Amino acid sequence: MTKRWTVSVLTLFPEMFPGPLGASLAGRALERGVWSLETVDLRDFGIGAHRSVDDTPAGGGPGMVMRADVVAAALDHAARGHGDVPAIYLTPRGTPLTQRRVRRLAEGPGAIVLCGRFEGLDERVLEARALEQISIGDFVLSGGEVAALALMDAAVRLLPGVVGAEGSLDEESFETGLLEHPHYTRPRDWEGRAIPPVLTSGDHNKIVQWRRARARADTRRRRPDLWAAYEARKGRKPDR
Ligand code: SAH
Repeated sequence: MTKRWTVSVLTLFPEMFPGPLGASLAGRALERGVWSLETVDLRDFGIGAHRSVDDTPAGGGPGMVMRADVVAAALDHAARGHGDVPAIYLTPRGTPLTQRRVRRLAEGPGAIVLCGRFEGLDERVLEARALEQISIGDFVLSGGEVAALALMDAAVRLLPGVVGAEGSLDEESFETGLLEHPHYTRPRDWEGRAIPPVLTSGDHNKIVQWRRARARADTRRRRPDLWAAYEARKGRKPDR
């Protein structure tokens, strides 16, 4: 049996987990032991009678900052239960998450995932514990928990046996460097809109060509950034 993919989530809100990952494909995989999820309550490492985890920002300004000593104690505790796994801090200041990073994460033994709150963390703990900093997009969430759920969802569905038709994963958006083609299903006519005739023609080659053309056209129009990277890579072997 392969070793199960194991995540420890460090959070002030352990009750948010597994949350949506307890349902559907990820939830069934969790029950079957394909992966496992542990939460570490940052509050347990808080300081003093109030178990305080945050303090005012050095240099002034609004909000609160999570303390380096508190977070480090929680990280060190979590690391003791793990082999060599990446320790990830979710932050809008991080490297944007990609399908490629998700795939590498799913191929590894698991992760330690740290969720920030307030204004974020004292920078020194990020340096001292060499945390990998990842952003799930150019917007600001109220905490790292929803970002952690997104990261874990993306990784768990790549674990062997989680998604039924595994072939379907290869052609998905980003796996080829392009967005995926659009989908249709019955009824053939709906509110005066027909399914593109090629898709019901039974001509497999034409269908493949149509899908490829749509993937390219849609990527070019919607995601000029992806399209430019795809064009630049042409002629080179994809490096995943
Ligand atoms: N002051 C910070 C934002 C703090 S938001 C800044 O301007 O960069 C509070 C917490 O939510 C962060 O510590 C982080 O863990 C999480 N978070 C917010 N937006 C995120 C994003 N786009 N990706 C990943 N985590 C995010």
